[in-house]
Amino acid sequence: MSEDQKDRVVARRLFGSVRPTQSSGNCVPDLEALKRPFSSTTSQAYLFCAGCGALYETEEEGAETLAKKAGEKILPGDLPNKIYFEIQGCALCDGDQNLVTKKDLSDG
Ligand SMILES: [Zn+2]
Repeated sequence: MSEDQKDRVVARRLFGSVRPTQSSGNCVPDLEALKRPFSSTTSQAYLFCAGCGALYETEEEGAETLAKKAGEKILPGDLPNKIYFEIQGCALCDGDQNLVTKKDLSDG
């Protein structure tokens, strides 16, 4: 098994499902899922991959990094969970992980 394949096995175990490895690039997040409480008390925002539909949680530091990539800033009141990030690729797919958009959850 290659390192890449091992990563995917671990990812499947962590995320509980088998995801396509090729980015479709047009997945749409379930807004209800984005409004659910985080599974970790340190999580501050969701990260949704439009490439494959995977949903992650990120801590404040991760949110700052993602905002920077998106060319935006974390504003007062954004955290926790008033915003989320959409990314075009992640560890589970082959989309572009540098294409990040910051989104406002209250806009729907
Ligand atoms: Zn992905």
